[in-house]
Amino acid sequence: MEKVKKVLIVGGGIAGLTAAIALKRSGIESHVVEKSADWSVYGVGIIQPSNALRALRSIGLGDLCLADGRGFNGWRFCDANGAVLAEAAAFSVAGPGYPAANGITRPALHKILTEAVLRQETPVSLGVTVESLEDTGDRVNVSFTNGESGRYDLVIGADGAYSKIRGMLFGDAVRPRYTGQGVWRYNFPRPKDFDWGCMYFGKQSKAGLVPLTEQAMYLFLVTAEQGNPRMVTDQLAVLLRERMQEYGGLLGELRELVTDPTAVVYRPMEVVMLPQPWHRGRVLLIGDAAHSGTPHLAEGAAMAIEDSIVLAEMLDGATSIESTLNAFWARRSPRAQLVYETGIQLGEWEQAEWRGEPAAGAAYNEAFANAYAVLSEPI
Ligand SMILES: Cc1cc2nc3c(=O)[nH]c(=O)nc-3n(C[C@H](O)[C@H](O)[C@H](O)COP(=O)(O)OP(=O)(O)OC[C@H]3O[C@@H](n4cnc5c(N)ncnc54)[C@H](O)[C@@H]3O)c2cc1C
Repeated sequence: MEKVKKVLIVGGGIAGLTAAIALKRSGIESHVVEKSADWSVYGVGIIQPSNALRALRSIGLGDLCLADGRGFNGWRFCDANGAVLAEAAAFSVAGPGYPAANGITRPALHKILTEAVLRQETPVSLGVTVESLEDTGDRVNVSFTNGESGRYDLVIGADGAYSKIRGMLFGDAVRPRYTGQGVWRYNFPRPKDFDWGCMYFGKQSKAGLVPLTEQAMYLFLVTAEQGNPRMVTDQLAVLLRERMQEYGGLLGELRELVTDPTAVVYRPMEVVMLPQPWHRGRVLLIGDAAHSGTPHLAEGAAMAIEDSIVLAEMLDGATSIESTLNAFWARRSPRAQLVYETGIQLGEWEQAEWRGEPAAGAAYNEAFANAYAVLSEPI
């Protein structure tokens, strides 16, 4: 097999951009097409656990994330009024000088990734997607929605949980499923001494505060939302305040600051897992397009970044595309599956507890500890 030299990446999100960066480091050129014309992301935060920092560090981006985010070393677990029940250091595998985790705004992370891609002169086409794919065995012929076309050695679908590329390969049988929970997020000023993540356990919900920058932190509130309701956009601040009623202390004070509906980000938790190898011929899915879980472990983006790094390493020197992509799946799917299954399980236990019917076998600490022990292992 000739070396993979030219790759099309569909989707300019975390998976697609880190793939372009990692591939370039392996000497493989790519072209990114992103369907959004303005290429923007929403303004709340993301947690980068230690395996994400380790992966980003390996492609030269870890220090930039730390500089633009706020590192922290563990979590305090509190009741709904903020009384601390326990605290635990987060797992730490990113190496010397690195905190265990980092909070960063999604726009700051997006800027780091887009600037790295543009700096390495990877072509990016905005407002464009794939119209059709023809895999001829030794190449993929692609036509785009802007009327252009191209020939590639490999096509990577990094187009998120509602992946169009997944639909083209595998049809509509695999689609995201709602898990019964939603997540509300809002940014606040960060008190100077607020330097760990904090989780607050209510009777109907779970909240968290995460350091984001020197000045800011963000709230996430996980609630059960029966039937996956569509939230009315201009009511989002009122709806979030209502759901924060059971909290006192700092969260009670913060509740009164939730006034701007345009700054509330609500997302239903939806999950999707491609059961078979994540490729057909020369077209491969990575990131949320192949495996998207609930955010309970804060590992979705981490999995996408790890996918990119492992793929670039395996394509470098690959002798057969089919066996390389099969081996890629065999190497990546156990970790992705663990994150997927653990995330669903944690959400089910929480919902049972909030209904007043706690699951007999619920073992949150063990589930987190088991997942993070595996994720600490080298990729
Ligand atoms: C509420 C919530 C909180 C989360 N918190 C965390 C966290 O704290 N830590 C963490 O690691 N993960 C977290 N995640 C998960 C994380 O956001 C995702 O796993 C990550 O964004 C996946 O990246 P991706 O690039 O695969 O997909 P996406 O981020 O969805 O990016 C896909 C990209 O493809 C583009 N696109 C879509 N369709 C097409 C098309 N047809 N053609 C071209 N382009 C297309 C999109 O515009 C987008 O730019 C959270 C998720 C949710 C819902």
